[in-house]
Amino acid sequence: MSRSRPIVAIDGPAGAGKSTIARRVADALGFVLVDTGALYRTVALAASRRGIPLSDGESVGDVARGMVSRDELRLDRDPANGVRVLLGPADAREDVSEAIRTPEMSLGASTVSAHPGVRAALLDIQRRAGAEGGVVLEGRDIGTVVFPDAEVKLFLTASAETRARRRYDELVAKGQEVSYEETLDQVRARDRQDEGRAIAPLRRAEDAHLVDSSSMSLDDVLERMLAIVRAWAR
Ligand code: C5P
Repeated sequence: MSRSRPIVAIDGPAGAGKSTIARRVADALGFVLVDTGALYRTVALAASRRGIPLSDGESVGDVARGMVSRDELRLDRDPANGVRVLLGPADAREDVSEAIRTPEMSLGASTVSAHPGVRAALLDIQRRAGAEGGVVLEGRDIGTVVFPDAEVKLFLTASAETRARRRYDELVAKGQEVSYEETLDQVRARDRQDEGRAIAPLRRAEDAHLVDSSSMSLDDVLERMLAIVRAWAR
């Protein structure tokens, strides 16, 4: 199937600058933005609020399926912060955008995302959001699993140290008390979980353009990525 506007898939490890870049790419192109990590984070939040151990794949899978089938998981565009995440039934949606951004939910999302039932439940939402094109999807497996036929695939990475430093600066700016070493450990733990899992492990699709942001400014990364998208459109 050919789309008049492309699907832009941006995959890569935690802390490579994906969210910021994905938002800026979407803004520059006038495309819809889908932050797929937010979906996994929200499943982790909902399950932990119900006291379900995040390692319990069946129960967490049930939570994810239930949320999707009852339409209790919504992503809205927020001009200021990229994406707003809403949880709950239509008449009582709760904005959990902040609650899902803690270090606990980062690792929790990584844990729940290894469960096949969770991944299957979230696949439909992601495919529906992207099917028409004119969309930037950001995640781990967009170019490999969700949209293997995406027109433009980008894999954004950076060294673990660079990513930990950036994440640390972000958390400190938000007033959270963390140390750099702790943050680096968390980045490595998440890399191990994301790359080592049996289902949809984090890896670069063969046809994805590799962009290493370790020694690039955000503006340079943005420019490189936009050039790749525009080369496709030509
Ligand atoms: O991108 P973000 O840090 O919000 O993702 C949180 C976690 O969700 C990741 O560590 C990863 O394990 C999982 N994830 C995933 N597949 C995606 C997006 C995120 O497995 N497409």
